[in-house]
Amino acid sequence: MKTFFIGLLDWIYKKKCYFCRRSDESVKMCSKCYDSLEFLNFGKRLALDGVSVYVAGVYDKNLQKLIRGLKYHNQRDLAFYQAKFMWEYWQNITDESGFEVVPVPLHKDREYKRRYNHMILVAEEFCRLSGYTLNTKLITRVKNTKPQYKLSPAERAENLHNAFKVNKNAYNCGRILIIDDICTTGSTFAEMIRTLKNAGINDITCFATTTPNP
Ligand SMILES: [Zn+2]
Repeated sequence: MKTFFIGLLDWIYKKKCYFCRRSDESVKMCSKCYDSLEFLNFGKRLALDGVSVYVAGVYDKNLQKLIRGLKYHNQRDLAFYQAKFMWEYWQNITDESGFEVVPVPLHKDREYKRRYNHMILVAEEFCRLSGYTLNTKLITRVKNTKPQYKLSPAERAENLHNAFKVNKNAYNCGRILIIDDICTTGSTFAEMIRTLKNAGINDITCFATTTPNP
């Protein structure tokens, strides 16, 4: 009888895959759904003011669902899968160490509303996998910018102008790896690069999970 109840509880509390709703593996993202994520080419996607920008994956159904689930639907344990996917891509780019991972910061009002910065969660997992150092103090967002998706490229740049501030005391002379989820026009990376360079920090690389631009 006891084993029956334990079996029943196991069955009730079995984790369903957030993507296909099957519970065979009792995980948040089953291996079949994870394996459906597709890498983009292993190489630099674009350069912004001499800084290389890499993008890990094709913007398809499951990767979009992964990003949105973490960002808007409080599915915090998805951060691990996003970080794992980025790390698997990144190992094809370089085996160099010594990066300091800087997640794109949210303005404190927005972080308060959302209760967490999803990219900090991804960065934490990414650092656990890579052994890199996490740095969330180097750059903060001092302007509460409008959401970017409705804006033209020129409006995006204007919206983000002077949005960030560097805290030089938090700089440890490492190589900076800025990470974000979606790189559309690159305007967020560009403004962060501009701000860091103005503070004399030049060893910068950018890395996004995906891009809606094919
Ligand atoms: Zn699944």
